[in-house]
Parts: sequence; C-alpha cells; structure tokens
Amino acid sequence: MPYLSAMEPLALYIHWPFCLAKCPYCDFNSHVRDQIPQAQFRDALLTELAWEAGRLGPRLLTSIFFGGGTPSLMQPDTVAALIEQACRVFQSAADLEVTLEANPTSVEAARLADFRQAGVNRLSLGVQSLDPDALRLLGRQHSAPQALAALEIARATFPRLSFDLIYARPGQDVPAWQGELRTALTLAPDHLSLYQLTIEPGTAFATKHARGEIVLPDGDTAAALYTATDEAAARFGLAAYEVSNYARPGAESRHNLAYWRYADYAGIGPGAHGRVTVGGELVATRRHRAPEAWAERVARDGHGTVEQTAVPAGDKAREMLLMGLRLAEGIDATRFAARTGIDLAAALDPDVLAQAQEANYLRWDHGRLVALPEGRLRLDALLAALVR
Ligand code: SF4
Repeated sequence: MPYLSAMEPLALYIHWPFCLAKCPYCDFNSHVRDQIPQAQFRDALLTELAWEAGRLGPRLLTSIFFGGGTPSLMQPDTVAALIEQACRVFQSAADLEVTLEANPTSVEAARLADFRQAGVNRLSLGVQSLDPDALRLLGRQHSAPQALAALEIARATFPRLSFDLIYARPGQDVPAWQGELRTALTLAPDHLSLYQLTIEPGTAFATKHARGEIVLPDGDTAAALYTATDEAAARFGLAAYEVSNYARPGAESRHNLAYWRYADYAGIGPGAHGRVTVGGELVATRRHRAPEAWAERVARDGHGTVEQTAVPAGDKAREMLLMGLRLAEGIDATRFAARTGIDLAAALDPDVLAQAQEANYLRWDHGRLVALPEGRLRLDALLAALVR
C-alpha cells in the first residue's frame, strides 16, 4: 500500500467530450463527430491520468466521475481501463464511488450492464423530462418511453441511481411540473438533480431567447416551481442537500460533495478543471478545451494542461463560499480557515451579513454558516453582496 501523507483525499473527474447531437441549451464542452476517435482518446486519457498521478503522489481516492459530453458513448473497456489504472496509481477508498453519466437512448441503455461490469457503481441518467413535447423542445435524442425503459434497466443494474430533470421550461406551470415530478419520484431513484432551465450565452437557445422565440417563466413562477420541487421531493424522502440536488440520507453524490466542500479534485480530459494540493499549495488546473488539440498535446507532452496557477487566499475564500453556501449543511468555519488561511467572518461584509441574518437568509449554526431556504432562493444576489 502506498504511503499516504495527511493530505486531502482526492476526487477524480474524467471528461468525455463527445455527444450524438448538441442540445440547444447546452454550454458544456461537448462536440459532435461523425466518428468518435475511441482508441486515441482512450490512450490520451490513460496517459494524462498517469501524468496527474505522477505529480500528485500517493492519495486516497474517494470518487471517480465520468462526465461529459456523453460518457456512455465511451467503450466500456475504456471505462474499465481508467478505473483500474486510477485504483492502481492512487489508493482507492473502501467505499470508492464511481459515477458515469449516461443518456437514455436505446444504444446506450444496451451497454449499461457492461459499464456496471467495468466497475461503475452509480449511474446518473440524463432524462431531463418525461414530457414528449419538452424532450423535443430540449432537442434530446431519446423519447419518454425510452427514458422509462432505461431507468428500469438502470435500477436493476446499479446499486445507486440518480437522474436529471430540467424544469422552469417555457410555458410550464406549477401543476404540470408537480405531475411530472410525481412520476419521476415514483421511479424511486435515491438521488435526483433538478435544474431550472437557464439561457447560457453562445447556445442555440440564447439566439432564440434574444429573438423572443423562447420565454422563460418569470421570477415569481420560477420561485414557486422551486418551492414545489422541495416539497414534492421531501414527501418522497429526498432532502435538498444542495440547491439543485436531492437525496435520501446517505445517497448524496460524494463526488459532487467534494466540489461543494472545496476538497481536492483532479480533472483530466479536454477542458477539465481541477483544484489540487501540490507541495502544500492549492493549485487551479485547466486542460485544453478543444478535444483533438488536447489529445495531440497529451501525445506530445503527456498532458494537456494549459493553466496551472496557485490559488490566492482571497480567491480560495470566495470559491469556498460560492460552493459551500449551496449546501444545506453550510460551511464549517474551522475547515474554512484551515483551507483558505482566512477567518470565515473576515471574508464577509459585516453589514450584509447582519441584514441577511435579520431577513432569515443566513444563520450561524454550531460554527457553520448556513444559507436558509429563503437565502438559497436568492443565493447568487446574496453572495454578490456578501463576499468581500
Ligand atoms: S447530451 Fe448533455 S453534454 Fe451533450 S449536448 Fe446534450 S446536454 Fe450537452
């Protein structure tokens, strides 16, 4: 067993950049190709993982997350090879969580057993909606019956299952969303990610939105939809442990908790970001975004890193606040000081903090700063004013 220092445990993110088609709302680093260069990207990911492990040294690996793009388009033996190598170069935790994002098209559903065999123990299925019109609007490649069939296979195949839905869609009202959500919740996932539709710059939806062809629900409706979401999830035993994520106790995504708790995570693959402790210093890393250029750099240099900079104390404090206040558990002041070198209270504007406590947006709870439900509803505006 490799020697482990008293370092932060490590979460590993692996980015697969290819999709069958580009969804009109999506601003992720995802690309459509006639032919996916499977062998080239398998070699490049394995090479970059070896390089990352070489510089990080022995670490306790707590989670692996295959994200994208559409990682269910990877060949299962590539997934198996990456898991096997990650567990060899790091020390894998006894309860290592291995998540793979998948889409519910029939081709991908047919490979779910192979991904389980490869070592994936948690599936995150991109259902997005159970309404046929909404699936068309969102430009998805699967139908509602395909989503239900994939969910059934996934539930029988993986010990842990999550799926995503997008709400606050054009024309959607509270009763319609409650009905869709009820159907989703009866499918008994242990985890749900429920995102409000947002218009991201540079997407096809941004163009339509600018032309007035897409109109999102107004602020009051969006808030009512959010509240209805919380209530419905709670009725089925899923707690909102993060702004958009709901889980049964113990079924929270350990990998995503690493981001929100501002733990160390390494990111490999095109465009992947990381925050890793190297030589006692927290370093921000970013890989080249364009898939083929990234693969060429990896073939040439062993890695596709384009940015590698120490994170200044003020940025660490800001980032940890932005992430941590999304969590229902809030931010532990002791860990905040240890991780950033800054006292939590000193990172906040005292007047804004006092007002936010008065308005029941924030509270101190046994050494933790916690955003209350009303605060989480307006978290972006609150953070903009609060963080110095
Ligand atoms: S499948 Fe996912 S990553 Fe790919 S384009 Fe659609 S939303 Fe983006």
